[in-house]
Amino acid sequence: MKADLAYAPRDAIMHGMAEVDVNKVVRQHLEMDGFFTGFAIRGKSEALYDSAPATVAPSANASSSAPTKALNPPSAILSSPAATGGRNPQSSSAEAAAALEAIAAEARQCRKCQLGSTRTKCVPGEGHPRARIMFIGEAPGADEDAQGRPFVGRAGQLLDKIIAACGLKREEVFIGNILKCRPPENREPRPDEIINCLPYLQRQIEAINPDIIVALGGHAAKTLLNTVKPIGQLRGQFQEYYGGIGRPPIKLMATFHPAYLLRNYSEQNRRYVWEDMKKVLTELGLPVPERNKGG
Ligand code: URA
Repeated sequence: MKADLAYAPRDAIMHGMAEVDVNKVVRQHLEMDGFFTGFAIRGKSEALYDSAPATVAPSANASSSAPTKALNPPSAILSSPAATGGRNPQSSSAEAAAALEAIAAEARQCRKCQLGSTRTKCVPGEGHPRARIMFIGEAPGADEDAQGRPFVGRAGQLLDKIIAACGLKREEVFIGNILKCRPPENREPRPDEIINCLPYLQRQIEAINPDIIVALGGHAAKTLLNTVKPIGQLRGQFQEYYGGIGRPPIKLMATFHPAYLLRNYSEQNRRYVWEDMKKVLTELGLPVPERNKGG
């Protein structure tokens, strides 16, 4: 029986060898679930930040089905002059939200490359306009293309678990991609597509001015760092993203893409991702959740 191709190595799919052992896939899925769940901040049982005042996160993708959620964000996970030691010059959440919406509107109109006419929905990205962490992936897949929202398929579910394991909520971070439109058949982004699309992401980064960018996978890491080094060499230590002359570099942590984790399932790979995320939390001065006993 054929199983979900999200779990099949890209090479296997391309060579028509995507026969996967269903039992193995189910076991992997359950174990994956288990790995990134059961973490908690010592002394806290549920959400970290229940007592913080509520604010509203304006949608960065207003015409999509993305819900605009009332948030309960902690000051520590959203940037502010106080939280960043005055580093973040963004004057207000509303200005950043307006800038993000303008970028998203432009991206939705974009026809600079053929992906603009082959996609179903543009996926500009979504999240908090004052997020301190931006997660950047490669390009929308089929689920994202259908919904106009980033990371909503299998890889997205795993990303949600990783974010939750960090003690964070999806609405407190920003999630986007190098490409805003889906490459047909999920093929790899082409250089001309990246060149045309990258300015949208560069402007999103400028508007949000995060403290840390988490590059998910080799494509995102290599593009943002302008390097050809493989992800295995880039991950695990902070790199620097340069947004342009006169702008201070932003720390970037490269880590494995959740889809890679799903395809290359091993305890070691999951551990690598968790180690990378712990470094991100520590750098931000946020508590690092520990695994619950029996969790
Ligand atoms: N993979 C990505 O790189 N981005 C998405 O939005 C979904 C899957």
